[in-house]
Amino acid sequence: MFDSVDVEPRQLEAYRGIAPDEQIEEIRTLAAQFGGARVLHVNATAFGGGVAEMLATIVPLMRDVGIDAEWRVIEGATEFYEVTKKFHNALQGMDVPISQQELDTYLRYNKLNADRFSRDYDFVIIHDPQPAAMRRLMLEEGRGQAGRWIWRCHIDITDAQLGAWEFLRPYVEAHDAAVFTMQEYVKPDLSVGEVALIAPAIDPLSAKNAELSAEDVATVLRENRVDPDRPVIAQVSRFDPWKDPLGVVDVYRLVREQVPGLQLVMVATMANDDPEGHLWYDRTREHAGDDPNVFLLTSEQDNSQQVNAFQRAASVVLQKSKREGFGLVVAEALWKRTPVVAGNVGGIPVQIRDGQDGYLISTTEEAAEKVARLLLSPNEQTQMGESAHQHIRSDFLITRKVLDYLRLFKRLSN
Ligand code: UDP
Repeated sequence: MFDSVDVEPRQLEAYRGIAPDEQIEEIRTLAAQFGGARVLHVNATAFGGGVAEMLATIVPLMRDVGIDAEWRVIEGATEFYEVTKKFHNALQGMDVPISQQELDTYLRYNKLNADRFSRDYDFVIIHDPQPAAMRRLMLEEGRGQAGRWIWRCHIDITDAQLGAWEFLRPYVEAHDAAVFTMQEYVKPDLSVGEVALIAPAIDPLSAKNAELSAEDVATVLRENRVDPDRPVIAQVSRFDPWKDPLGVVDVYRLVREQVPGLQLVMVATMANDDPEGHLWYDRTREHAGDDPNVFLLTSEQDNSQQVNAFQRAASVVLQKSKREGFGLVVAEALWKRTPVVAGNVGGIPVQIRDGQDGYLISTTEEAAEKVARLLLSPNEQTQMGESAHQHIRSDFLITRKVLDYLRLFKRLSN
Protein backbone atom coordinates (compact mmCIF):
# COMPACT_ATOMS: atom_id res chain seq x y z
CA MET A 1 0.00 0.00 0.00
CA PHE A 2 1.05 3.61 -0.40
CA ASP A 3 1.90 5.57 2.77
CA SER A 4 -0.51 6.20 5.58
CA VAL A 5 -0.68 9.55 7.37
CA ASP A 6 -0.50 9.74 11.16
CA VAL A 7 -3.15 11.87 12.79
CA GLU A 8 -3.55 13.14 16.35
CA PRO A 9 -6.39 11.43 18.22
CA ARG A 10 -9.61 13.36 18.78
CA GLN A 11 -12.70 12.71 20.85
CA LEU A 12 -16.22 13.24 19.64
CA GLU A 13 -17.22 14.00 23.25
CA ALA A 14 -15.04 17.12 23.12
CA TYR A 15 -17.66 18.58 20.77
CA ARG A 16 -20.50 18.07 23.22
CA GLY A 17 -21.99 21.39 24.25
CA ILE A 18 -20.49 22.99 21.15
CA ALA A 19 -22.08 21.04 18.29
CA PRO A 20 -25.77 20.05 18.44
CA ASP A 21 -26.43 17.03 20.68
CA GLU A 22 -28.60 15.42 17.96
CA GLN A 23 -25.60 15.33 15.63
CA ILE A 24 -23.41 13.67 18.22
CA GLU A 25 -26.10 11.09 19.02
CA GLU A 26 -26.80 10.31 15.36
CA ILE A 27 -23.07 9.87 14.70
CA ARG A 28 -22.92 7.35 17.55
CA THR A 29 -26.02 5.49 16.34
CA LEU A 30 -24.81 5.23 12.75
CA ALA A 31 -21.24 4.43 13.76
CA ALA A 32 -22.54 1.54 15.87
CA GLN A 33 -23.92 0.03 12.65
CA PHE A 34 -20.52 0.38 11.03
CA GLY A 35 -18.43 -0.73 14.00
CA GLY A 36 -15.08 -1.98 12.76
CA ALA A 37 -15.84 -0.95 9.17
CA ARG A 38 -12.63 -0.38 7.25
CA VAL A 39 -12.65 3.07 5.69
CA LEU A 40 -9.85 4.50 3.61
CA HIS A 41 -9.46 8.15 2.61
CA VAL A 42 -7.05 8.74 -0.28
CA ASN A 43 -5.67 12.09 -1.40
CA ALA A 44 -2.48 13.53 -2.84
CA THR A 45 -0.98 15.45 0.08
CA ALA A 46 -0.67 15.20 3.85
CA PHE A 47 -0.05 18.94 4.35
CA GLY A 48 -1.38 22.19 3.02
CA GLY A 49 -4.82 22.92 1.72
CA GLY A 50 -8.31 22.46 3.02
CA VAL A 51 -8.60 18.75 2.19
CA ALA A 52 -5.61 17.74 4.32
CA GLU A 53 -6.84 20.00 7.12
CA MET A 54 -10.27 18.40 7.03
CA LEU A 55 -8.94 14.82 6.91
CA ALA A 56 -6.77 15.52 9.96
CA THR A 57 -10.02 15.98 11.90
CA ILE A 58 -12.44 13.62 10.17
CA VAL A 59 -10.20 10.54 10.28
CA PRO A 60 -9.52 10.60 14.06
CA LEU A 61 -13.19 11.38 14.77
CA MET A 62 -14.24 8.34 12.74
CA ARG A 63 -11.72 6.25 14.69
CA ASP A 64 -13.06 7.59 17.96
CA VAL A 65 -16.51 6.18 17.17
CA GLY A 66 -15.17 2.72 16.35
CA ILE A 67 -14.58 2.92 12.62
CA ASP A 68 -11.29 1.55 11.36
CA ALA A 69 -10.43 4.71 9.38
CA GLU A 70 -7.16 5.27 7.57
CA TRP A 71 -5.78 8.12 5.49
CA ARG A 72 -3.25 7.34 2.79
CA VAL A 73 -1.45 9.58 0.34
CA ILE A 74 -0.75 8.40 -3.19
CA GLU A 75 2.80 8.37 -4.47
CA GLY A 76 3.81 10.91 -7.06
CA ALA A 77 6.75 12.85 -8.41
CA THR A 78 7.24 16.34 -9.81
CA GLU A 79 6.08 15.35 -13.32
CA PHE A 80 2.85 13.98 -11.86
CA TYR A 81 2.16 17.02 -9.66
CA GLU A 82 2.85 19.35 -12.59
CA VAL A 83 0.22 17.56 -14.61
CA THR A 84 -2.30 17.38 -11.77
CA LYS A 85 -1.87 21.10 -11.11
CA LYS A 86 -2.69 21.84 -14.75
CA PHE A 87 -5.50 19.35 -14.69
CA HIS A 88 -6.90 20.98 -11.55
CA ASN A 89 -6.82 24.40 -13.24
CA ALA A 90 -8.44 23.06 -16.42
CA LEU A 91 -11.20 21.45 -14.35
CA GLN A 92 -11.77 24.78 -12.64
CA GLY A 93 -12.30 26.39 -16.02
CA MET A 94 -8.87 27.78 -16.88
CA ASP A 95 -7.90 27.59 -20.52
CA VAL A 96 -4.84 25.37 -20.19
CA PRO A 97 -4.12 22.82 -22.88
CA ILE A 98 -3.18 19.35 -21.65
CA SER A 99 -1.28 17.10 -24.01
CA GLN A 100 -1.81 13.39 -24.53
CA GLN A 101 1.62 12.86 -23.04
CA GLU A 102 0.51 14.65 -19.87
CA LEU A 103 -2.64 12.56 -19.64
CA ASP A 104 -0.47 9.47 -20.03
CA THR A 105 1.68 10.67 -17.13
CA TYR A 106 -1.45 11.13 -15.02
CA LEU A 107 -2.60 7.59 -15.82
CA ARG A 108 0.85 6.11 -15.30
CA TYR A 109 0.98 7.37 -11.71
CA ASN A 110 -2.59 6.29 -11.05
CA LYS A 111 -1.66 2.85 -12.36
CA LEU A 112 1.41 2.75 -10.14
CA ASN A 113 -0.72 3.49 -7.09
CA ALA A 114 -3.47 1.11 -8.21
CA ASP A 115 -0.84 -1.63 -8.43
CA ARG A 116 0.18 -0.91 -4.84
CA PHE A 117 -3.40 -1.08 -3.64
CA SER A 118 -3.23 -4.33 -1.71
CA ARG A 119 -5.94 -4.28 0.95
CA ASP A 120 -9.70 -4.53 1.05
CA TYR A 121 -11.85 -1.83 2.56
CA ASP A 122 -15.57 -1.42 3.11
CA PHE A 123 -15.48 2.18 1.89
CA VAL A 124 -12.78 3.95 -0.11
CA ILE A 125 -13.08 7.71 -0.46
CA ILE A 126 -10.99 9.16 -3.26
CA HIS A 127 -10.47 12.90 -2.80
CA ASP A 128 -10.20 15.18 -5.83
CA PRO A 129 -8.92 14.42 -9.32
CA GLN A 130 -5.35 13.32 -8.52
CA PRO A 131 -6.16 9.69 -7.56
CA ALA A 132 -9.48 9.53 -9.49
CA ALA A 133 -8.41 6.98 -12.12
CA MET A 134 -7.35 4.23 -9.74
CA ARG A 135 -10.67 2.44 -9.34
CA ARG A 136 -11.29 2.06 -13.05
CA LEU A 137 -7.73 0.96 -13.70
CA MET A 138 -8.17 -1.71 -11.02
CA LEU A 139 -11.54 -2.83 -12.37
CA GLU A 140 -10.03 -3.16 -15.84
CA GLU A 141 -7.65 -5.70 -14.35
CA GLY A 142 -10.38 -7.57 -12.53
CA ARG A 143 -9.49 -6.02 -9.14
CA GLY A 144 -11.01 -3.31 -6.95
CA GLN A 145 -14.50 -4.78 -6.71
CA ALA A 146 -14.34 -4.97 -2.92
CA GLY A 147 -16.11 -2.25 -0.98
CA ARG A 148 -17.89 0.87 -2.10
CA TRP A 149 -15.81 3.53 -3.75
CA ILE A 150 -16.71 7.20 -3.46
CA TRP A 151 -15.22 10.05 -5.46
CA ARG A 152 -15.21 13.25 -3.41
CA CYS A 153 -14.87 16.40 -5.53
CA HIS A 154 -13.80 19.43 -3.49
CA ILE A 155 -13.47 21.81 -6.41
CA ASP A 156 -15.98 23.69 -8.53
CA ILE A 157 -15.92 21.95 -11.91
CA THR A 158 -18.99 23.63 -13.40
CA ASP A 159 -16.90 25.52 -15.95
CA ALA A 160 -14.40 22.71 -16.52
CA GLN A 161 -12.63 22.62 -19.87
CA LEU A 162 -14.61 20.13 -21.91
CA GLY A 163 -11.60 18.02 -22.82
CA ALA A 164 -10.44 17.72 -19.22
CA TRP A 165 -13.89 16.73 -17.96
CA GLU A 166 -14.51 14.29 -20.81
CA PHE A 167 -11.22 12.62 -20.00
CA LEU A 168 -12.00 12.39 -16.30
CA ARG A 169 -15.68 11.44 -16.49
CA PRO A 170 -15.36 7.68 -17.22
CA TYR A 171 -12.92 7.35 -14.32
CA VAL A 172 -15.33 9.12 -11.99
CA GLU A 173 -18.18 6.95 -13.27
CA ALA A 174 -16.30 3.83 -12.20
CA HIS A 175 -17.10 4.82 -8.59
CA ASP A 176 -20.24 3.83 -6.69
CA ALA A 177 -20.95 7.41 -5.67
CA ALA A 178 -19.74 10.94 -6.32
CA VAL A 179 -19.88 13.71 -3.74
CA PHE A 180 -20.02 17.41 -4.52
CA THR A 181 -20.07 20.51 -2.35
CA MET A 182 -23.30 21.95 -3.72
CA GLN A 183 -26.01 20.94 -6.16
CA GLU A 184 -24.80 23.60 -8.62
CA TYR A 185 -21.46 21.81 -8.89
CA VAL A 186 -22.90 18.47 -10.01
CA LYS A 187 -22.08 17.88 -13.67
CA PRO A 188 -25.34 17.17 -15.51
CA ASP A 189 -23.79 14.53 -17.76
CA LEU A 190 -22.31 12.52 -14.91
CA SER A 191 -23.77 9.04 -14.65
CA VAL A 192 -22.91 7.44 -11.35
CA GLY A 193 -24.85 5.19 -8.94
CA GLU A 194 -25.33 7.81 -6.27
CA VAL A 195 -24.70 11.55 -6.08
CA ALA A 196 -24.41 13.10 -2.64
CA LEU A 197 -23.89 16.66 -1.46
CA ILE A 198 -21.58 17.38 1.44
CA ALA A 199 -20.86 21.02 2.20
CA PRO A 200 -17.58 22.07 3.78
CA ALA A 201 -17.50 22.67 7.51
CA ILE A 202 -15.34 24.27 10.17
CA ASP A 203 -13.77 22.76 13.25
CA PRO A 204 -14.91 24.76 16.29
CA LEU A 205 -11.98 23.39 18.32
CA SER A 206 -9.20 24.43 15.94
CA ALA A 207 -6.88 27.34 16.75
CA LYS A 208 -8.71 29.35 14.11
CA ASN A 209 -12.15 28.92 15.61
CA ALA A 210 -11.74 28.13 19.30
CA GLU A 211 -12.90 30.67 21.89
CA LEU A 212 -10.56 33.61 22.53
CA SER A 213 -10.94 35.98 25.44
CA ALA A 214 -11.63 39.66 24.78
CA GLU A 215 -8.25 40.34 26.32
CA ASP A 216 -6.46 37.98 23.92
CA VAL A 217 -8.29 39.57 21.00
CA ALA A 218 -7.26 43.08 22.12
CA THR A 219 -3.65 41.91 22.52
CA VAL A 220 -3.55 40.67 18.92
CA LEU A 221 -4.99 44.01 17.76
CA ARG A 222 -2.41 46.02 19.69
CA GLU A 223 0.43 43.82 18.40
CA ASN A 224 -0.67 44.85 14.93
CA ARG A 225 -1.11 48.52 15.92
CA VAL A 226 -4.88 48.35 15.43
CA ASP A 227 -6.79 50.38 18.03
CA PRO A 228 -9.13 48.05 19.97
CA ASP A 229 -11.24 51.04 21.07
CA ARG A 230 -12.24 52.09 17.55
CA PRO A 231 -14.50 50.17 15.13
CA VAL A 232 -12.91 47.60 12.84
CA ILE A 233 -14.11 45.98 9.64
CA ALA A 234 -12.09 43.12 8.17
CA GLN A 235 -11.66 40.84 5.19
CA VAL A 236 -9.63 37.64 5.62
CA SER A 237 -8.56 36.43 2.19
CA ARG A 238 -5.71 35.73 -0.13
CA PHE A 239 -4.89 38.78 -2.29
CA ASP A 240 -6.63 37.59 -5.40
CA PRO A 241 -8.68 39.48 -8.00
CA TRP A 242 -11.74 37.26 -7.33
CA LYS A 243 -11.77 38.42 -3.71
CA ASP A 244 -11.93 42.05 -4.93
CA PRO A 245 -9.37 43.59 -2.53
CA LEU A 246 -9.59 47.01 -4.23
CA GLY A 247 -13.36 46.94 -3.84
CA VAL A 248 -12.90 46.28 -0.12
CA VAL A 249 -10.85 49.49 0.19
CA ASP A 250 -13.59 51.37 -1.71
CA VAL A 251 -16.26 50.05 0.65
CA TYR A 252 -14.19 51.15 3.65
CA ARG A 253 -13.79 54.67 2.19
CA LEU A 254 -17.52 55.05 1.64
CA VAL A 255 -18.37 53.77 5.11
CA ARG A 256 -15.76 55.92 6.80
CA GLU A 257 -17.67 59.03 5.71
CA GLN A 258 -20.41 57.90 8.09
CA VAL A 259 -18.30 56.18 10.73
CA PRO A 260 -15.33 58.34 11.67
CA GLY A 261 -12.42 56.47 13.21
CA LEU A 262 -13.24 53.30 11.26
CA GLN A 263 -10.32 50.95 10.65
CA LEU A 264 -9.99 48.39 7.83
CA VAL A 265 -7.94 45.26 8.39
CA MET A 266 -7.15 42.85 5.57
CA VAL A 267 -5.54 39.60 6.69
CA ALA A 268 -3.82 37.26 4.24
CA THR A 269 -1.32 34.48 4.03
CA MET A 270 1.15 34.90 1.20
CA ALA A 271 2.93 31.95 -0.29
CA ASN A 272 6.41 32.76 -1.57
CA ASP A 273 5.64 31.03 -4.83
CA ASP A 274 2.47 33.07 -5.48
CA PRO A 275 3.42 36.00 -7.73
CA GLU A 276 -0.23 36.90 -8.27
CA GLY A 277 -0.71 37.35 -4.53
CA HIS A 278 2.19 39.80 -4.37
CA LEU A 279 0.91 41.70 -7.40
CA TRP A 280 -2.55 42.15 -5.86
CA TYR A 281 -1.07 43.04 -2.49
CA ASP A 282 0.93 45.84 -4.17
CA ARG A 283 -2.13 47.05 -6.06
CA THR A 284 -4.17 47.12 -2.86
CA ARG A 285 -1.41 48.92 -0.97
CA GLU A 286 -1.24 51.54 -3.69
CA HIS A 287 -5.03 51.89 -3.84
CA ALA A 288 -5.18 52.43 -0.05
CA GLY A 289 -2.44 55.08 -0.27
CA ASP A 290 -0.97 56.16 3.05
CA ASP A 291 -4.21 55.88 5.04
CA PRO A 292 -3.04 55.01 8.58
CA ASN A 293 -6.37 53.29 9.28
CA VAL A 294 -5.94 50.64 6.60
CA PHE A 295 -3.93 47.62 7.78
CA LEU A 296 -2.75 44.98 5.32
CA LEU A 297 -1.47 42.14 7.48
CA THR A 298 0.31 39.38 5.63
CA SER A 299 1.97 36.22 6.95
CA GLU A 300 4.03 33.55 5.36
CA GLN A 301 3.14 31.03 8.06
CA ASP A 302 0.07 29.81 9.81
CA ASN A 303 -1.75 32.86 11.19
CA SER A 304 -4.77 31.08 12.66
CA GLN A 305 -4.67 33.02 15.91
CA GLN A 306 -4.58 36.33 14.04
CA VAL A 307 -7.47 35.26 11.80
CA ASN A 308 -9.44 34.15 14.86
CA ALA A 309 -8.82 37.48 16.63
CA PHE A 310 -9.77 39.72 13.70
CA GLN A 311 -12.87 37.71 12.84
CA ARG A 312 -13.92 38.35 16.45
CA ALA A 313 -12.74 41.97 16.72
CA ALA A 314 -14.51 43.12 13.57
CA SER A 315 -17.99 44.59 13.94
CA VAL A 316 -18.63 43.43 10.41
CA VAL A 317 -16.62 41.05 8.25
CA LEU A 318 -16.55 41.64 4.51
CA GLN A 319 -16.13 38.98 1.84
CA LYS A 320 -16.46 40.97 -1.31
CA SER A 321 -15.90 38.00 -3.61
CA LYS A 322 -16.87 38.15 -7.26
CA ARG A 323 -16.43 34.42 -7.52
CA GLU A 324 -15.99 31.89 -4.76
CA GLY A 325 -15.74 28.12 -4.35
CA PHE A 326 -17.38 27.85 -0.98
CA GLY A 327 -15.80 30.63 1.08
CA LEU A 328 -14.99 28.97 4.40
CA VAL A 329 -13.97 32.33 5.85
CA VAL A 330 -17.64 33.26 5.84
CA ALA A 331 -18.59 30.33 8.10
CA GLU A 332 -15.59 31.10 10.32
CA ALA A 333 -16.69 34.69 10.91
CA LEU A 334 -20.38 33.84 11.33
CA TRP A 335 -19.46 31.19 13.93
CA LYS A 336 -17.81 34.01 15.92
CA ARG A 337 -21.10 35.92 15.94
CA THR A 338 -19.80 38.48 13.47
CA PRO A 339 -22.27 39.42 10.72
CA VAL A 340 -20.82 39.13 7.22
CA VAL A 341 -21.53 41.33 4.21
CA ALA A 342 -20.53 39.28 1.18
CA GLY A 343 -20.82 38.80 -2.55
CA ASN A 344 -23.80 36.71 -3.63
CA VAL A 345 -21.64 34.08 -5.35
CA GLY A 346 -20.53 30.44 -5.00
CA GLY A 347 -21.18 28.92 -1.58
CA ILE A 348 -21.76 32.27 0.13
CA PRO A 349 -25.59 32.37 -0.20
CA VAL A 350 -25.76 28.91 1.39
CA GLN A 351 -24.05 30.29 4.48
CA ILE A 352 -25.60 33.75 4.76
CA ARG A 353 -29.36 33.99 4.91
CA ASP A 354 -29.74 37.51 3.54
CA GLY A 355 -30.89 39.91 6.23
CA GLN A 356 -30.56 37.27 8.96
CA ASP A 357 -26.88 36.36 9.27
CA GLY A 358 -25.55 39.28 7.29
CA TYR A 359 -26.19 40.70 3.84
CA LEU A 360 -25.60 39.46 0.31
CA ILE A 361 -24.44 42.21 -1.99
CA SER A 362 -23.47 42.69 -5.62
CA THR A 363 -21.94 46.17 -5.77
CA THR A 364 -19.54 48.31 -3.78
CA GLU A 365 -22.27 50.84 -2.98
CA GLU A 366 -24.59 48.15 -1.72
CA ALA A 367 -21.82 46.67 0.41
CA ALA A 368 -21.02 50.10 1.89
CA GLU A 369 -24.68 50.74 2.68
CA LYS A 370 -25.04 47.41 4.53
CA VAL A 371 -21.75 47.71 6.40
CA ALA A 372 -22.62 51.26 7.54
CA ARG A 373 -26.09 50.16 8.56
CA LEU A 374 -24.66 47.41 10.75
CA LEU A 375 -21.97 49.62 12.25
CA LEU A 376 -24.57 52.21 13.17
CA SER A 377 -26.90 49.64 14.70
CA PRO A 378 -25.26 47.62 17.47
CA ASN A 379 -28.58 45.89 18.16
CA GLU A 380 -28.87 44.54 14.64
CA GLN A 381 -25.22 43.51 14.82
CA THR A 382 -25.83 41.48 17.98
CA GLN A 383 -29.03 39.90 16.69
CA MET A 384 -27.51 38.91 13.39
CA GLY A 385 -24.38 37.64 15.09
CA GLU A 386 -26.43 35.31 17.26
CA SER A 387 -28.53 34.09 14.34
CA ALA A 388 -25.35 33.52 12.33
CA HIS A 389 -23.74 31.51 15.12
CA GLN A 390 -26.79 29.23 15.40
CA HIS A 391 -26.88 28.74 11.63
CA ILE A 392 -23.26 27.61 11.54
CA ARG A 393 -23.79 25.48 14.63
CA SER A 394 -26.56 23.50 13.02
CA ASP A 395 -25.25 23.24 9.45
CA PHE A 396 -21.54 23.92 9.09
CA LEU A 397 -19.59 22.29 11.93
CA ILE A 398 -17.31 19.32 11.34
CA THR A 399 -19.69 16.98 13.22
CA ARG A 400 -22.29 17.49 10.48
CA LYS A 401 -19.70 16.47 7.95
CA VAL A 402 -18.79 13.26 9.78
CA LEU A 403 -22.51 12.57 9.90
CA ASP A 404 -22.92 13.17 6.17
CA TYR A 405 -20.25 10.55 5.42
CA LEU A 406 -21.91 8.03 7.74
CA ARG A 407 -25.30 8.68 6.14
CA LEU A 408 -23.75 8.09 2.74
CA PHE A 409 -22.17 4.82 3.94
CA LYS A 410 -25.60 3.75 5.09
CA ARG A 411 -27.25 4.59 1.76
CA LEU A 412 -24.53 2.72 -0.09
CA SER A 413 -24.97 -0.33 2.14
CA ASN A 414 -28.67 -0.76 1.44
N1 UDP B 1 -6.82 31.79 5.77
C1 UDP B 1 -5.84 31.81 6.74
N2 UDP B 1 -5.09 32.93 6.85
C2 UDP B 1 -5.27 34.00 6.06
C3 UDP B 1 -6.27 33.99 5.07
C4 UDP B 1 -7.03 32.84 4.96
O1 UDP B 1 -5.65 30.85 7.49
O2 UDP B 1 -4.54 34.98 6.24
C5 UDP B 1 -7.68 30.60 5.71
C6 UDP B 1 -9.10 30.96 6.03
O3 UDP B 1 -9.26 31.06 7.44
C7 UDP B 1 -9.86 29.82 5.39
C8 UDP B 1 -9.00 29.48 4.17
O4 UDP B 1 -7.72 30.07 4.40
O5 UDP B 1 -9.94 28.71 6.27
C9 UDP B 1 -9.56 30.10 2.89
O6 UDP B 1 -10.63 29.35 2.48
P1 UDP B 1 -11.78 29.97 1.58
O7 UDP B 1 -12.69 28.84 1.25
O8 UDP B 1 -12.42 31.13 2.27
O9 UDP B 1 -11.07 30.58 0.31
P2 UDP B 1 -9.98 30.03 -0.73
O10 UDP B 1 -8.69 30.66 -0.33
O11 UDP B 1 -9.98 28.53 -0.62
O12 UDP B 1 -10.45 30.55 -2.07
